[in-house]
Amino acid sequence: MRTRQFKSESKKLMDMMINSIYTHKEIFLREIISNASDALDKLYFRSLTDTQIGLKASDFQIKIEIDKENRIISVSDNGCGMNEQELDKNLGTIAKSGSFDFKEQNEKAENVDIIGQFGVGFYSAFMVSDKVEVRTRPYDSDKAYCWKSCGAEGYTIEECDKDTFGTTVTMHIKTDTDDEKYSEYLDQYRISALIKKYSDYIRHPIKMEFTTKKPIDGKENEYEDVVEFRTLNSMVPLWKKSKSELKPEDYNNFYKEKFYDFEDPIKYIHTHTEGQATFDALLYIPKHLPFDYYTKEFEKGLQLYSKGVLIMEKCSDLLPDYFSFIKGLVDSEDLSLNISREMLQHDTQLKLIAKTVEKKIKSELEKMLKTDREAYEQFFRSFGTQLKFGIYNNYGINKDVLKDLLLFVSSKEKKYVTLKEYVDNMKEGQENIFFASGESIDKIELLPQCDAVKDKGYEILYLCDNVDEFALMMLSEYDGKKFINVCDQSLNLDSDEDRKVLDDENTAAKDMFEKMKATLNNNVNAVRFTNKLKNHPVCLTSEGAISLEMEKTLNAMPGDENKVKAQTVLEINVSHPIAQKLKELFANDTDTLEKYTKLLYSESCLIGGRSIEDPAEHSKLICELMTK
Ligand code: ADP
Repeated sequence: MRTRQFKSESKKLMDMMINSIYTHKEIFLREIISNASDALDKLYFRSLTDTQIGLKASDFQIKIEIDKENRIISVSDNGCGMNEQELDKNLGTIAKSGSFDFKEQNEKAENVDIIGQFGVGFYSAFMVSDKVEVRTRPYDSDKAYCWKSCGAEGYTIEECDKDTFGTTVTMHIKTDTDDEKYSEYLDQYRISALIKKYSDYIRHPIKMEFTTKKPIDGKENEYEDVVEFRTLNSMVPLWKKSKSELKPEDYNNFYKEKFYDFEDPIKYIHTHTEGQATFDALLYIPKHLPFDYYTKEFEKGLQLYSKGVLIMEKCSDLLPDYFSFIKGLVDSEDLSLNISREMLQHDTQLKLIAKTVEKKIKSELEKMLKTDREAYEQFFRSFGTQLKFGIYNNYGINKDVLKDLLLFVSSKEKKYVTLKEYVDNMKEGQENIFFASGESIDKIELLPQCDAVKDKGYEILYLCDNVDEFALMMLSEYDGKKFINVCDQSLNLDSDEDRKVLDDENTAAKDMFEKMKATLNNNVNAVRFTNKLKNHPVCLTSEGAISLEMEKTLNAMPGDENKVKAQTVLEINVSHPIAQKLKELFANDTDTLEKYTKLLYSESCLIGGRSIEDPAEHSKLICELMTK
């Protein structure tokens, strides 16, 4: 018999499992039971349409047997089973790996991480066993096969005997070490406690042979072993239980098991809705982004159940894109069990459910924002970008749903504020909402343009996320207050009088500015004096719809060869000595004026966080100045 090799990713994962220092080894049992339960569901589902399968819901069960002496625990089900190809495919490859690139997982922290993030499922058996056997027979076949493996070296598959259809997973439990008492997994009370903890809601009975000692009638101090099968789980799905019965850890354990997370969620939402649509929903807001959130493998959606039976693993129609990070499930009495994916899309009932789910999520987020700011901010750090995309996408159709969920760091206390808080805090007479954007808060604070706005006592929203400005552009105003970029030409904080003085200065220097603009090969739309810079000599501002930061973002996107260009203006501080110097040079020494113009333009680019076009020339000009 040939030893088959695991697919390479599976082999690495297997290595990890065998040498795992993961502290929650006990989860192997819930993984094996959850596979058994899925197999029962699959066959039950088939039996609903195929009357040849003469099985009732109550015929399905999971059986656990413990053989303490031989250190074996086995889990059997009478579910769909696997044929030889399926066995090879399903247990020779790890299902959930996707295109994830396995790093060498030696560090403890990473080890925990990876086990938590994958639904590593079946392989977790190797955390506690040194040998695993899977005997399986499909419902409609008389051939059974046995898969065996002692670890990363590979596995074998051979034909075997099996009287009944379904699958038995036999785990040979490792011997105890100083650190690890594997024998606990051979203790019937420990096992039944684990089932209560992790698998209580499984819809099918999980039965175990219990051996108890009973006194023998009429004989004092004499006992006999009595063997009985007990059902260990309550079989009521968690979401069907009343809230008062459940503790936060019940919800959290369920979440971690079902949705492959290693951390508790930030929040769970358990609701029962009656009326036009009747359904139970259990929704979770995760603490952090799923590892594959920004890959094409990520699929949004909620599990969809009809009367307690899973009919779809990821029903994407139940979640709008901007809430795609929500995990959870919906169970409705109103949906037919064998509804197809295509039919679902047009199902009015499903649409009603989706609307209700969306409203519920929104109101819970609003509640969290009001009552638990810290948790909300943590949530926003993980998923705020998604909400901002939600505002921007589809031409802003959802902006009103989402605008009050946004947070931006503000210049006042460098803390998150909502748009409402900003507006409530506005100074007397302030008509606009000011913002500034850049790579980081530190860099934004260095922007010369911020000083003037702050000096006037206005608060500025700091935008560091690429999507921020696009989202604000889509909103265009909040509560009647327009959003104004401090780096935009339209920023006007001057009194009419000051404005007039500046206009006169600009008119007088018109020819000089034309000359400077020509020197810069028309890289800027205009050159002007400004009085909004405190101590800085120059800055670069933009006019029109595209700001300097938006230009950067748009041009960083892959694919598009046609680069966009913001319309820029080189602004020179009218009160800075450089202004006078330029005027003198224009009158006497236009050669030097050209050089200074180039230098000032480079400076303005650098301050604004852009790169300069010709660094070699820039450096040459600087050295020339230094050696003068
Ligand atoms: P997952 O369950 O997350 O898909 P696993 O590694 O736990 O990943 O299992 C891999 C696959 O093996 C399952 O998807 C399923 O097709 C199959 N499998 C595992 N256990 C059983 C079982 N008891 N009965 C039938 N098929 C099973």
